[in-house]
Amino acid sequence: MSTIRVTVWNEYRHEKSNKEIAKLYPEGMHGAIAKHLRTQPGMEVRTATLDEPEHGLTEDVLATTDVLTWWGHAAHAEVQDEIVEKVRQRVWDGMGLIVLHSGHFSKIFKSLMGTSCDLKWREIGEKERLWVVEPGHPIVDGIGEFIEIEHTEMYGERFDIPQPDTQVFISWFPGGEVFRSGCCFHRGRGKIFYFRPGHETFPIYYHPDVLRVITNAVRWAAPGEGPVPVFGNAKPLEHV
Ligand code: ZN
Repeated sequence: MSTIRVTVWNEYRHEKSNKEIAKLYPEGMHGAIAKHLRTQPGMEVRTATLDEPEHGLTEDVLATTDVLTWWGHAAHAEVQDEIVEKVRQRVWDGMGLIVLHSGHFSKIFKSLMGTSCDLKWREIGEKERLWVVEPGHPIVDGIGEFIEIEHTEMYGERFDIPQPDTQVFISWFPGGEVFRSGCCFHRGRGKIFYFRPGHETFPIYYHPDVLRVITNAVRWAAPGEGPVPVFGNAKPLEHV
C-alpha cells in the first residue's frame, strides 16, 4: 500500500481567541487530529490553516494531497473563492475530502453538495449517540454498535444535503432530534465523507473512536487506481 498524503486543514480561530478552547487544544484541533494520524502506518501528514498565505493550500500542497480534512466554523466567508474552486477541482480529480462538524457550512462542502447544507442546532452540552447503520463499511472498522460522546452541541434534521451514497452513522440526542452524522458521497473521481463530531468546546478530537473513524475515513477516501475518465467527441470502438 502506498503512503497516503494527508493535509489537515483548520480555520484555527477559536483556539486563538478563546482561552478555554486554547487549553483544550494547545496546538489547535488540526494539531490534535494530525498528531493522531501521524501515529498511523502509511500516512504522511501536514497541516494548513486559514491565516497562512493561500490558506496553506497552495497549488503544490493541493497537488500533493491525497486526502484533505476540513474544519471551519466562524470564518467560512473568509475562505477565498479561488481556493475553494481549486479544492473542488482536486476532489473531482480524485482527492479525498473529510468534512468535519461545522464544516457542513463551508463553501467547499456546499459547493460540492449543491444544497444549503443547513441544519438545526442547540448548544447545551447534550450527549450524542452515533449509531453505526452500515456495519460492513470500512469507515467503521473497529467501532462497536455505537459511539457515545458525553457532551456536545446538537445537530438535528433536517440536514439539507443530497441523499448520501452511503450513510454510515445516524445520531441520537436526548432532546429528541436525530441527525445523519456520517455520510459518504462521490463527486467526480473523489470521495467525500461528512463526519459530525468535533464541537470546539469539548475534547472530542481526543475520543479514541472519533479518531479511529477519521483514520478509517482517510483510508477510505484516499484515491484509488481507477481510470481517468475521457470526455468529449469519441471515435467508435466497433465498426459502426
Ligand atoms: Zn459546533
